[in-house]
Amino acid sequence: MGIAVVGGGVAGITAALDLADAGYKVYLIEKNAELGGKMAELAECKTGLSPYVVKVKNHPNIELMLSSELESLSGSAGNFKLKVSGKEVEVESVVLAPGYDIPEIAKSYGFGNPDVVTSLDFEGILRAATASETGELLRPSDGKRVKRIGFIQCVGSRCQENEICSTACCAYTAKEAWVIKERFPDLEVYIFYMDIRVFGKDEELVAELKEKYGVKYIRSRVPEVIPEDGALTVKYENLEKG
Ligand SMILES: Cc1cc2nc3c(=O)[nH]c(=O)nc-3n(C[C@H](O)[C@H](O)[C@H](O)COP(=O)(O)OP(=O)(O)OC[C@H]3O[C@@H](n4cnc5c(N)ncnc54)[C@H](O)[C@@H]3O)c2cc1C
Repeated sequence: MGIAVVGGGVAGITAALDLADAGYKVYLIEKNAELGGKMAELAECKTGLSPYVVKVKNHPNIELMLSSELESLSGSAGNFKLKVSGKEVEVESVVLAPGYDIPEIAKSYGFGNPDVVTSLDFEGILRAATASETGELLRPSDGKRVKRIGFIQCVGSRCQENEICSTACCAYTAKEAWVIKERFPDLEVYIFYMDIRVFGKDEELVAELKEKYGVKYIRSRVPEVIPEDGALTVKYENLEKG
């Protein structure tokens, strides 16, 4: 019968290729019209992913089901029934690789307001700046030039609901802050952090951001972001000053 892999991001692609190479018949089910998931939205990652997408499309053991959403799953090991966009698929095993969603807690940071964005959205805003005639970084809400930008780290992690550190956002924020200061030196950058968990070269980068680029690192917990008169106010508890 074969194996269903649900989700055509990098995890699903990798699982599908490994299983197909091992001789299994694989149904790769992706709700979007293209493979790639989140990585397809990141320019550098998309390039690295392309050869694997081609391999999936040409693999004789993979039946690629694009624009196909898993609606329900029933059965047990050895005999599963999946309802996929109205069709039924029967398999012996299922690999779930549906990726992640924005955590609920993000809502208290004003997520939903056009000017409160995820890092993935921010990549798009940077790309739009590069493609525009002026090259300026513009606010999604009203198209005005961004003057101050705040990064809130640890959203959805290191909290009561989820104690685990992502281990990614300190280094990622530092990279983004560097890109911003290199391209838009007048823009003020604030980083709300709990601890700076970076190593090696990234440690040097954080020091450089503080000393050379004037990035303001604020050791804090942020309970909420308040929209006020077309601007955003970040409310925070300063963990150093109290
Ligand atoms: C801003 C940012 C920068 C990053 N930079 C890097 C980097 O430089 N290097 C790196 O290695 N990682 C990076 N990452 C992390 C990387 O993007 C993720 O780890 C990776 O994309 C997760 O892959 P995934 O396959 O688990 O999930 P996803 O990429 O989210 O893929 C899940 C797929 O499942 C599909 N799906 C969900 N539900 C269903 C359903 N019911 N039916 C059918 N399909 C479904 C979705 O449409 C999606 O295509 C970055 C992440 C972010 C946010």
